[in-house]
Amino acid sequence: MANKIINFGVLTVSDSCFNKTSIDKSGLTLQQMIEDNERSFIGKVIQYAIVPDDINQIQETLITWSSEDINVILTTGGTGFTDRDVTPEATKQVIDKEAPGLVISMLVASMKITPFAMLSRPVCGIRGNTLIINLPGSSKGSKECLEMVLPCLKHAVDQLNGDRDQIVASHTSLFSSNSRQHSYSTDGDMDKLKFQQLHHDVTKVARRMRFSSYPMISFEDALAVVTDNAYKMETEVTNLQDALGRVLANQVLAKNPVPPFPASIKDGYAVLASDGCGIRCVLNDSIAGSVPINRVTSGFCVRITTGAPVPDGADAVVQVENTELVKEDNDGRIEVEINILTTPKEGQDIRPVGVDIQQGQVIVSSHLPLGPNELGLIAMVGISEVTVYKMPVVAVLSTGNELCVAGEELKPGCVYDSNKTMLLAAFKEYGFPVLDVGIAKDNLQSLQTILTKAFSSADVVVSTGGVSMGEKDLLKYTLSEVFHAHIHFGRVFLKPGKPTTFATVEYEGKKKLIFALPGNPVSAIVCCNLFILPTLKKMCCHLKPFPKRIKVKIEKDMKLDPRPEFHRVNLVWKDEDSVPTAISTGNQMSSRLLSMLSAHALLQLPQKTNDKSTIKAGDLLDAFIISRIT
Ligand code: AMP
Ligand code: MG
Repeated sequence: MANKIINFGVLTVSDSCFNKTSIDKSGLTLQQMIEDNERSFIGKVIQYAIVPDDINQIQETLITWSSEDINVILTTGGTGFTDRDVTPEATKQVIDKEAPGLVISMLVASMKITPFAMLSRPVCGIRGNTLIINLPGSSKGSKECLEMVLPCLKHAVDQLNGDRDQIVASHTSLFSSNSRQHSYSTDGDMDKLKFQQLHHDVTKVARRMRFSSYPMISFEDALAVVTDNAYKMETEVTNLQDALGRVLANQVLAKNPVPPFPASIKDGYAVLASDGCGIRCVLNDSIAGSVPINRVTSGFCVRITTGAPVPDGADAVVQVENTELVKEDNDGRIEVEINILTTPKEGQDIRPVGVDIQQGQVIVSSHLPLGPNELGLIAMVGISEVTVYKMPVVAVLSTGNELCVAGEELKPGCVYDSNKTMLLAAFKEYGFPVLDVGIAKDNLQSLQTILTKAFSSADVVVSTGGVSMGEKDLLKYTLSEVFHAHIHFGRVFLKPGKPTTFATVEYEGKKKLIFALPGNPVSAIVCCNLFILPTLKKMCCHLKPFPKRIKVKIEKDMKLDPRPEFHRVNLVWKDEDSVPTAISTGNQMSSRLLSMLSAHALLQLPQKTNDKSTIKAGDLLDAFIISRIT
């Protein structure tokens, strides 16, 4: 049974958009949503217009479009209480039948988000074979309302077209497995639809859902959700040898000053500066690691080595190069007299007590990761143990019947598993303890076995594959049905990484975070950088968990995608440029891992709009640093 394409018309009703004093964000968002659902939902925008808040112009457009081949007209704007808001009145006058169920479900859903939704007066109804739906004017409100009704539109259009076969198929697909699911259309709760998608009989491929019930959320919202769920790890005491990369829980103070005594900066002679140049009797010596016995008085000096304590009385050191021997004894084994050739200044070549580090000074602040420099400083003040945050243990699995392990012979129809090796390394690079829990086949039993292993041994579970719309994409189902995990989101408005899924589960009394990444290797590693590494760092209370964001200059014109994109770029510092130039790593297909090979950063490209479809060479944009730049 072929799915018919639903033709949409998007009508923005707004004086200011019509006069071009503001951008039609809502109209563009709605088009984007439909376009984005194109593959799964099979909808297409074939008409788009902006009219002022004028009842006649609204009516005319509705009448014209409903006489054309348009199945659903979405209006946005003009549903409020002001004089100019007349979209519902215009709609009422042109419809043959009202569709109050759609109105109720949109209002109930929106009121859960904001009480202001009660001030929207949408009308929904049918004119001929066309369904007309009034959505609010704000892009957020119109998006939320469309998300609410979108899953029912195909069924509605099938009914309007009198397509019996499709109606039966939709009924079977939507309502076959459980009578509880009928409630979703009346209480307007998206969760119920998700429930239905998750509860469908996965053995019946023909009846699988043909669109995703997971709302598409923005990258910023998705990041906020994951980092809100990043719980704080406990602390533990570790010795310095094992502390590399760990995040310090308590600040480290200097117990002792550095240097703890006035120390010589040079190999030479400790003298009295007031004696000036000239002959000195050599009393003795002060070698690093010893305590000098003699006090230096006028006319005398003590031979001294770098880092050795300056003897009492001396207030300057003269380096050996600025002296000459006058008299020796015992066949050169004893210096008796030397000549100081340059006039010493008081304090010359002496490090006073505490000049490097004062006693009680904070030398490393808490919540910083311990690198070689921090560890060196801590050792310098004589501390051998530090309190750090425990690191979350990360279990990594791959999913897919097609996956072979590198080194094995490649079976027909198979590909090598690159994701697991890559992700394990990405976590290890930051010192997170990792567990390789293997490759799950695309069946419930295998997924259940491997996920059980992961949950029982790790704090964070990262999988790749099995989260898209394919009939073998069973990960969300397994998480929700078998483990009763809470799926916080199942789609992100992002390229690459649209099907990125995040869930949490209570397993043996402990909260586990689950990142189910798409299988395409680039999507997996990009989303690991954007979502997982910041979350893991936040769990260890890292002061700066997010990748560093810098401004970069675009090398060549770049086409924008309908989704906000993280484009892999190489950074090059050109002469006299204060910002680096971002050079694309080439074809950005999400399977082409070579696009990550020389990538220093993820360039944040905005989504394409009617007004802006390219970024010009020389434009400045934000980029997230993802590698050590070499
Ligand atoms: P999926 O997300 O499972 O639909 O997979 C999307 C694409 O990524 C398919 O072409 C898979 O073969 C590929 N893929 C999935 N998992 C891996 C993996 N672990 N290593 C390499 N490619 C993978
Ligand atoms: Mg797969």
